Amino acid sequence: MPGRNALFIPGPTNVPDAIRRAMDVPMQDQRAPDFPDFSLGLFRDLKKIFKTETGQVFLFPGSGTGGWEAAITNTLSPGDKVLAARFGQFSHLWIDLCQRHGLEVEVVDVEWGRGVPVDVFGEHLAADKRHEIKAVLVCQNETATGVTSDVAGVRRAMDATGHPAMLYVDGVSSIASIDFRMDEWGVDLAVSGSQKGFMLPTGLAIVAASQKALTAYESAKCPRCFFDFGDMMRTNKDGFFPYTPATTLFHGLRASIDLLLEEGLENVFARHHRLAEGVRRAVGAWGLKLCAKEAKWYSDTVSAICVPEGFDGNAVVRLAYLRYNLSLGLGLSKVAGKVFRIGHLGDLNDLTLLTAIAGSEMAMRDLGIAVELGSGVAAAQEYYRQTARPVDMPLASAASM
Ligand SMILES: *Cc1c(COP(=O)(O)O)cnc(C)c1O
Repeated sequence: MPGRNALFIPGPTNVPDAIRRAMDVPMQDQRAPDFPDFSLGLFRDLKKIFKTETGQVFLFPGSGTGGWEAAITNTLSPGDKVLAARFGQFSHLWIDLCQRHGLEVEVVDVEWGRGVPVDVFGEHLAADKRHEIKAVLVCQNETATGVTSDVAGVRRAMDATGHPAMLYVDGVSSIASIDFRMDEWGVDLAVSGSQKGFMLPTGLAIVAASQKALTAYESAKCPRCFFDFGDMMRTNKDGFFPYTPATTLFHGLRASIDLLLEEGLENVFARHHRLAEGVRRAVGAWGLKLCAKEAKWYSDTVSAICVPEGFDGNAVVRLAYLRYNLSLGLGLSKVAGKVFRIGHLGDLNDLTLLTAIAGSEMAMRDLGIAVELGSGVAAAQEYYRQTARPVDMPLASAASM
């Protein structure tokens, strides 16, 4: 099909041209004496993205899943207890990974469409008088349901009970797009990947560890080799790696960090919020509901949209792709068929997002879902116009707007 595929899945996301060009480099000698001039700057500036001054960042070839594994195996031992909530496919898979590593997971099941229940976590922590819970796991942005949880709230609940457990955050679809503050929130392990907010191809697990986590490393007994923090630290301190690093992706990462810091993280978060709000206005205009049950759970990086009873969300996704070359996110696991997802993170602006809204309308109409063509587009257009950045030009008076 001519024209570009309109890619609106919540990862991999669109790679900006500046990042693509930055990766068009020859292979390089990762043991060259001047390699650290390049690599050490990445570690330094990634700390700004995670908002940590005291933590340490690790770069593994891998994906977000590898980041989960690195966080767990470097800091815990088989039999250790961790507390986690399950409210979507990604929070579920992280729990599964923990169990396969022999951890005992105290699972709090939550209706899909809600996030981490801070009060319930507080009760579990208060009841754990012997401090058997070693880690509290939070999936900051549940990509399957479009739900964002309150990491700072979990930290407060931990502090309120004086519980010494470590706090682990899956930030794969939030870090670099939704507010995240490692030091301020007392996060001990923060996990991300390259292909979502960082706008890179898949291929890197990006993990940040606190000093407390690095102390836990000393006694953690989970088997690990490829993801070993110690091997990394011994070589990273001089700017090198224990095995061949993904140098091409590192050049993309350099460009990604530069783009993010140039725009300013707070502006990046505000842009994601505004773009997401436009999608939410469209969903409202369609007369549909989000999978996220309440506004406090709304995700600024992905919206899972419920299709009416009797319709198949995955058919919307399939048709949008086959007829309009639009890639939307499928409903996963428990919400398969019930929702379709619009990913709105990374390299996006008002007009790119209108493409996804327009295409979704067309596909839904083709399947007989009663949405009015143009209704969602108009609602989003109106919102984007009203909130567009000011320009030094005369505009129509407010009354005629
Ligand atoms: C995408 C994603 C993952 C898994 O990352 P991969 O890069 O696919 O391994 C984990 N958690 C969340 C919240 C995600 O969105």
